[in-house]
Amino acid sequence: MADEMEIIRSALRRAREDGADAAGALPAANLLDCPSAAADGWRGARDERGAYIVIGLYHDPGKPELDLWEPGRGTPGDRILAGIGKDVVRWLQETHGTSARLIPYQIEDGGIYLKDAACLAGIGRMGRNNLVIVPSYGPRVRFRAVWADLDCPEPDRPWAEDPCRDCPGCCISACPMDAFASGRYDRERCMARMNADKASGRGRIDHCRACELACRKGL
Ligand code: SF4
Ligand code: SF4
Repeated sequence: MADEMEIIRSALRRAREDGADAAGALPAANLLDCPSAAADGWRGARDERGAYIVIGLYHDPGKPELDLWEPGRGTPGDRILAGIGKDVVRWLQETHGTSARLIPYQIEDGGIYLKDAACLAGIGRMGRNNLVIVPSYGPRVRFRAVWADLDCPEPDRPWAEDPCRDCPGCCISACPMDAFASGRYDRERCMARMNADKASGRGRIDHCRACELACRKGL
């Protein structure tokens, strides 16, 4: 029987074969005290054992339809990620007899802090725009995660240096809500824009991506 580290490596390969552009894993317990959990009152999943397998999908600015949000359906990009996650869950169960589940997207449904998880899994580093800057893709990657009952080794970190170090901060000046006015990302200001979009009554909504698309990393 393959050891647990090898199963995790194989699960990451499986996710990439299924279409993920990025994948990494971390011990679930590493997320318990992540910065977003501390700032958000420790909501969402609180797994102390097992591993999170984080999968990422590049959202090409030339394919804006991947990000179009619909009530009750989310976005096409998230449905692709959920499909990859479900296949990894099924593969873990059927091939290795490993207990696994797809993590819901929303924190209130039992989700996890996906951007923190992606950073802790070594996929990228948090940029000043509060998005994960991923080598080759910049901040244009969306995430989902699978929990698996496996012991996970501590992941490597890809970038030691701050990805924003030499940048004037194009993302900051691009924000229509001034969500970085205090020098840090203000979730309420950003969400006010998102919530106004959702309340507009339009069927499919193209959420604000100004701070993401202004960033030149990965281009
Ligand atoms: S635009 Fe510059 S400061 Fe903003 S996330 Fe990208 S690299 Fe960092
Ligand atoms: S998504 Fe839009 S509103 Fe939110 S921080 Fe980025 S630029 Fe500002």
